[in-house]
Amino acid sequence: MSRTVFVNGEFVAEENAKISVFDRGFLFADSVYEVSSVLQGKLIDNKGHIKRLHRSLNELKMSAPATDDEIVRVQKDLIERNGIHEGLVYLQVSRGSADRDFPFPAADTKPGWVMFTQAKQLIESPHAQNGINVISLPDIRWKRRDIKTVGLLAQVLAKQAAKEAGAVDAWMVEDGYVTEGSSNNAFIVDKEGKLITRHLGNEILPGITRASVLELVEKENIVFEERSFTIDEAKFASEAFITSASTFVWPVVEIDGTQIGDGKPGPVAPKLRELYIRNSLARAE
Ligand code: PMP
Repeated sequence: MSRTVFVNGEFVAEENAKISVFDRGFLFADSVYEVSSVLQGKLIDNKGHIKRLHRSLNELKMSAPATDDEIVRVQKDLIERNGIHEGLVYLQVSRGSADRDFPFPAADTKPGWVMFTQAKQLIESPHAQNGINVISLPDIRWKRRDIKTVGLLAQVLAKQAAKEAGAVDAWMVEDGYVTEGSSNNAFIVDKEGKLITRHLGNEILPGITRASVLELVEKENIVFEERSFTIDEAKFASEAFITSASTFVWPVVEIDGTQIGDGKPGPVAPKLRELYIRNSLARAE
């Protein structure tokens, strides 16, 4: 049975979904997105994702396609129609469709919006259990990575390079410092047990999972610092891990072929993963 997807106000079978060739998301990547995870049929950390959607829209002077209540209603409707127990809801908003021209189209151009679900095992995951290996590579993205746009070609190339190197992901490096993972935020734990993750700024996406995990870190009285770190510092760390809506927390056990700590996950990353899942389920919508 095919999925039901949502396209510009209508629920349709995925094979019948149509987008204009003049949609500015398609032509210019003039489009922003959010991915929320679903556990037990409920949306995880969705308030944060909706809030960040507005931030991305505002930064690009784009309008929202509907009220927050309407957006969440469609998310929930899709979860139900597609029987998603565990997985993801993808939401994309574009500046709309208009004859191809670089400046913004007429002010009354309606934003485009699209949503679909993906069933995915998030809790039971070999990568969560065993940790992942990553490679480092130069961060070749534009200078407004804090805006969650669909301009993801640099990340496509990074993930492909990782795959070809036999790695699960790539950590991107700029001016000698790790910015973030190709689709996640990067953390290390130093030999004294201090957790370190890059400070927010235009250089990285303000991860919703990152923010929730840092709240838990504070609650657990784990010492942490938001600052840049190098690949060499990460290789010397006792632990490393990533956070994102689609992974929650995954340990990183190898960077560029160098084993991190004893090469096994833990103890901090698995504990934060468990706390994150438990806490966010309690707040799920
Ligand atoms: N950084 C980048 C570049 C990402 O693509 C993502 C995932 N969308 C993240 C960080 C993690 O953000 P979140 O926790 O909101 O999924």
